[in-house]
Amino acid sequence: MARDIYAYRCRKCGHLHYPYRMVCANCGENEHNEFDPEALPKTGTLLAFTRLYALPGDFDVPTLGLGIVELENGIRVTGQLDIDEPAAGMKVKGSVEVVRQEEYEKYYGMIFSQA
Ligand SMILES: [Zn+2]
Repeated sequence: MARDIYAYRCRKCGHLHYPYRMVCANCGENEHNEFDPEALPKTGTLLAFTRLYALPGDFDVPTLGLGIVELENGIRVTGQLDIDEPAAGMKVKGSVEVVRQEEYEKYYGMIFSQA
């Protein structure tokens, strides 16, 4: 089943937040926690990227590609890259996967491949 990562839209002014904020960054509204969750789009443009070579011991991969992606709705997210030769401006598509697993907890994030 496809999973989603959610952004939060302010009911007062419509400003979209990711990650979640307690108070709207645009209008300052927070009285009733009035945000509607909205699934992030999964396609966007790769803005910047790097590759990590010295990972902590609890990662079971030798290197890890990381990128900043601007999604179709303008929200920028950091995600893992499953791309051999990434390039700025490349169109990418993401899927939500377990990116880190500890004994009792799984952490989900976006993993991007070339669109
Ligand atoms: Zn607002």
